[in-house]
Amino acid sequence: MSFSSETKDELCRVGLSRSCCALAEAYGVLLYCHTFDRREIRVITAGEGFAQRLPRLFRRAFGLSFDRVPAEGAGGKRTFLITDPEKLFAVSAAFGQENDFTHHINFGVLENDCCRASFLRGAFLAGGSIIDPEKRYHLEFFTAHAAVSREVYSLMLEMGLSPKDSRRGGSALTYFKQSEAIEDVLTTMGAPLAAMGVMQAKMQKDMRNAVNRRVNCDSANADKIVAASREQLEAIRELDRLYGLTTLPDTLQETAMLRIANPEASLIELSRLADPPVSKSCMSHRLKKLLSYKGE
Ligand SMILES: [Zn+2]
Repeated sequence: MSFSSETKDELCRVGLSRSCCALAEAYGVLLYCHTFDRREIRVITAGEGFAQRLPRLFRRAFGLSFDRVPAEGAGGKRTFLITDPEKLFAVSAAFGQENDFTHHINFGVLENDCCRASFLRGAFLAGGSIIDPEKRYHLEFFTAHAAVSREVYSLMLEMGLSPKDSRRGGSALTYFKQSEAIEDVLTTMGAPLAAMGVMQAKMQKDMRNAVNRRVNCDSANADKIVAASREQLEAIRELDRLYGLTTLPDTLQETAMLRIANPEASLIELSRLADPPVSKSCMSHRLKKLLSYKGE
């Protein structure tokens, strides 16, 4: 199941106890669903949770049922339909807009904080989606009604959320791009588990990045070690050619043999390999001596 479907199923487990919130959630659904006009209400969903919740939501909000309770269609999609003019009138009247389907939000319906959150939940269930946070951070609300989208954008700002807005084709988009902003809107709508999923994905990504930075840093160090070793080996070969390594003082001879045997060792590793082990600064001193040795 996709992250989006899981999130919607979680939202559908939020109780339908308060009638004010049921009305607000249904309002969100209507303004973000397929069609809401004077001819019909058409809600299309592939989500099992939403398909279960929708008839209960409308009964709680308006005291009425859908004209067509759908069987599952192609691609698991179901279409919920109301065409009865009396029902359409009742629904629009519930928002103080008797048979007026000019898509604007009547903020009178959304005065309580609980109702605003419920409105967003309905809008997300009908017209929202979220991309798996393992891939990238993107949560959006999509509606054909530009005015509604603008009003929802303002509403979200008022609620302390951090949305962005955009257009896609003829339709309007309110979206979130940052993990924390997405966590906030998910928690507000009633999906704390999904919010935690986003937080965990972010933590794992941060950790991977930190490890990558360390590995990069180590490989830079490794390059330095390799360059130093190459310089020392060249000097040792030159000393061997000029004087023969056996003519070197004992400590330098031992150091030269150690470097030849361990061309990839770091300074610390070499100092530990010495017999007896010496300090790092002592090994550094011996290597410098090797580089500047002019015979005796
Ligand atoms: Zn409420």
